[in-house]
Amino acid sequence: METLKSYNPASGEYIGEVRKTKLSEIESIVQKSQEAQINWADLTIDDRIKIIDKASKKVIKNKDKISGLLHREMGKSLRSAESEVLSCSYSIHTAQLVKNAIAPQVRSGHGIETIVNYTPLGVCAIISPWNYPVSMAHWMIIPALTAGNSVILKPSEETPLVAQAYVDALNEELPPNVLQIVQGGDEQGNELVVSDGVDFIGFTGSREVGKKIMSNAAGTLKRVILELGGKDSLIVLKDADIEQAARFAIANSLENAGQMCISTERIFVDATIADDFKRQLINYIQHYNRGANSDQPVIGPVINANQRKRILNQIQDALSKGANIIYRGAVYPEQYISPMILDNITDEMQIAKEETFGPIVCLSTFDNVEDAINSTNSTGFGLGGVVYGHKDAEKVALQLQVGMIGINGGAGGIGDTPWVGAKQSGYGYHGSPDGHRQFTQVQVITKR
Ligand code: NAD
Repeated sequence: METLKSYNPASGEYIGEVRKTKLSEIESIVQKSQEAQINWADLTIDDRIKIIDKASKKVIKNKDKISGLLHREMGKSLRSAESEVLSCSYSIHTAQLVKNAIAPQVRSGHGIETIVNYTPLGVCAIISPWNYPVSMAHWMIIPALTAGNSVILKPSEETPLVAQAYVDALNEELPPNVLQIVQGGDEQGNELVVSDGVDFIGFTGSREVGKKIMSNAAGTLKRVILELGGKDSLIVLKDADIEQAARFAIANSLENAGQMCISTERIFVDATIADDFKRQLINYIQHYNRGANSDQPVIGPVINANQRKRILNQIQDALSKGANIIYRGAVYPEQYISPMILDNITDEMQIAKEETFGPIVCLSTFDNVEDAINSTNSTGFGLGGVVYGHKDAEKVALQLQVGMIGINGGAGGIGDTPWVGAKQSGYGYHGSPDGHRQFTQVQVITKR
């Protein structure tokens, strides 16, 4: 039996293993999903929501187990792991919003009636990453199930145990095979992408894999939502509150050890306030300590050796092209990257263009804000972006070619708004009435 073994990224300690799904098993899993979907879609949406609510409560009931695994398997602090799991308690609210969004719409006139129905797609495969292994899966699973689809989750091979515990908890209440799990890596994911019986792919992950999925899904013209990587900028204008901007810059560069899709990956500060801003950055970064079990704000380990190598290569490349380190944290054990502030970042450096996904604060100064805007818009990514300032903040923000903009605070809307990337950071989106409808097939019925 082939297994996926799981190790704690902070210590290398073996945590456990799951059986890897054989490629030859996947078609029968898909078939079971097709069969289960028929009865699931036959329930009224209110009945489905009741079951989804009960199932999500089981996730909360199993909070200690799931968040403990999340903490050990992914490396984030126990407190962050717990809040990620607790966010599943909003499921009932999300499901109600989905219900409202997909209610039939009726148009009538001249003796003709047209009904716009939002019907289930069938089988949805949700392929998720390791950095928020519960939330990223849950954000797609709840709308998919509410809309009457069955779901097959293919979690990241880096976090199979937490995904298994999460799915097991939901399955204490969901009918058999409405939610199944396929454990494995790219081969298992691709098998779902090319399967004739899978109708939809909800993918969250890297731009590179997103492109492969879009291409491989073309054979069956499957519906896809791709939520991909980013290279978010923070632009600090000369009339910004420097202290607030610096506090945000550090927090959003280091959150989840920088392993967050809307991490601040580059900072552009007006040259006239740059010295003050740097002093504040150095002040705030010192509040961060290493250690997965500390009560202090923490910077956890990097997920694996490949990712660590990638970050170190980007730092090396930046230093060889003229960047300099203006702050470096304590020397950390091998699994960690010492948080640092790199100054003089220029567009030729890899760290300026590629997603870093590490606890590195990357700084550039500008004399003309157009340069900061152009650099931001030249990466090909377009997930989020943040501007701190007053008089021109909105004008600058609106020139960023990104899906989510924050002014004097983080990107990402409140309420039922889309989670959306522009350009190569996404294709389709979830969240908001339009986003919920992407988990359905639109069908127009006209009676004369
Ligand atoms: P990844 O793209 O390497 O893997 C994501 C998932 O895809 C995993 O489950 C993996 O096994 C699977 N996969 C890999 N190759 C596949 C293939 N050919 N066909 C089908 N499935 C395949 O990403 P990751 O390293 O797990 O996660 C980090 C990335 O995710 C970063 O780029 C980050 O920015 C992005 N991300 C984006 C968002 C967002 O909302 N936009 C949120 C979280 C993470």
